[in-house]
Amino acid sequence: MTAVRYRPLIATTRYAIPAHDPVCPGEDNGDVDWIAVERTLNREHPQVSLNRDEQRAAALVLTRSGWGKRRISEFLSLYERLIEEWQADAGLLLPNRLCTADGCDRARSGRGLCTRHLQERRVTEKKKQCDHQDQRRRYSEKGRNR
Ligand SMILES: [Zn+2]
Repeated sequence: MTAVRYRPLIATTRYAIPAHDPVCPGEDNGDVDWIAVERTLNREHPQVSLNRDEQRAAALVLTRSGWGKRRISEFLSLYERLIEEWQADAGLLLPNRLCTADGCDRARSGRGLCTRHLQERRVTEKKKQCDHQDQRRRYSEKGRNR
């Protein structure tokens, strides 16, 4: 779990964020106040709170500026996983970071699969395991009744 980090207010720390086009061309950027996003990226005070769409826009602008997901996660106090999902949606993840299931282009989570496909696989594996235990129990009961 990513902890919310309270960072000290350091007036001298400023990051020059290059200007970019809207984050996802051809896609609905939702309810984004770009001035609020810019203020956050430039660490202007007083800090404004961003809504989900604005957080997503800020994360993608930082991604395009070459920031790593960990650094973005700390800067915006967001889960790294969430940032990866947004990067995958925006087509900013390399193919080796995407789910290997057919027709799925979500961010990879574990065993080469996204969270949804990983969960599905775990459920089928658990079912198989339970069926196997059922069979063994029935077999041993049969042996006892003989
Ligand atoms: Zn998947």
